[in-house]
Amino acid sequence: MSTAPPEYNVTGIDYRRRDHFRYAGPIIDIHAHVLQTRPDDPPSGPPKGFGPGASLAQAETMLEVAAEFGVVQTVTMCFPDDIPVLRARFGDALRFNGMISKKTADEPDDAAYRTLDTFLQHGVALIKFWAAPRGRDRGLFVDAPWRIEAAKRARAAGVKVIMVHVADPDAWFQTVYADAAKFGTKAEQYVGLRRMLELFPDLTWIGAHMGGDVEHPDHLEALLEQYPHLLLDTSATKWQVREASPRRAALRSLMTRYADRFLFGTDLVTRHTLQREHYVSRYWCQRTLWESTWEGPSPIADSDYQPPPGGPPTPLLAGLGLSAEVIARIYYHNARRLLPA
Ligand SMILES: [Zn+2]
Repeated sequence: MSTAPPEYNVTGIDYRRRDHFRYAGPIIDIHAHVLQTRPDDPPSGPPKGFGPGASLAQAETMLEVAAEFGVVQTVTMCFPDDIPVLRARFGDALRFNGMISKKTADEPDDAAYRTLDTFLQHGVALIKFWAAPRGRDRGLFVDAPWRIEAAKRARAAGVKVIMVHVADPDAWFQTVYADAAKFGTKAEQYVGLRRMLELFPDLTWIGAHMGGDVEHPDHLEALLEQYPHLLLDTSATKWQVREASPRRAALRSLMTRYADRFLFGTDLVTRHTLQREHYVSRYWCQRTLWESTWEGPSPIADSDYQPPPGGPPTPLLAGLGLSAEVIARIYYHNARRLLPA
């Protein structure tokens, strides 16, 4: 038997220690992936969404843990077929976000529009355009013509909010995205986003994962200042812990001055074989990072972190200690404003 510590707790921390939490109100997780899982899902990837053996056990575990951390509602990206099943089981604890994508570059635009129609029939509250650099070879640009058309159709159907994933960690542009001719530079990821923000000023846009650029609070500020209809979610816990902690003063200042423009998110994904403590670790780290001034080695494994020789294997988690008023907006009121109950 390996004695390597689990990825969700490499420092052996006691996650029941929560006396550093300062907030006792409700939380909305605007960015998560609660799906049915199956025994033959890929072990480390997202659920595949079809076949026998569908289970809600992981969704039940995740949402139980969510409630323990104060999360009263979770907005999930899942397959259309999951929506009625999840809604029947969890009711108002979930809202739905429809991912509008293509499986291959040559898939016809109509396939994406059919996906949109299906999501709209299921009453999604918002839609998502995933446009990470690794999707470029599938044509998944945020401002692809079929996405502009999908945004228009969604708006006509009453959708008011679109979430986007643009860019990825700075660290990846040195490694997986080092081929800039193929993936574009990090700066180039924002050209399409700006175009969409300008084409659709009447929609609200959510930049997932701190707009993809937590490494550059000055860039986030420029975007927030220029585009009053842009908000950013805090999801992708490892990334935020690693890169927000060393910039906590700048981010505390930014998030305080733009307190109406940030949304709590985790990016947790239900997977068939996850342990309960995996979910615990992400809620614990998110809350610790934003609302507390806790400091210590991050308890979660992070393969993007380059430890210094002889240093701890995970980055420092240094809480921003945002004020109670700012936290209440980020954790709850901003999301409630976008998604009325
Ligand atoms: Zn996500």
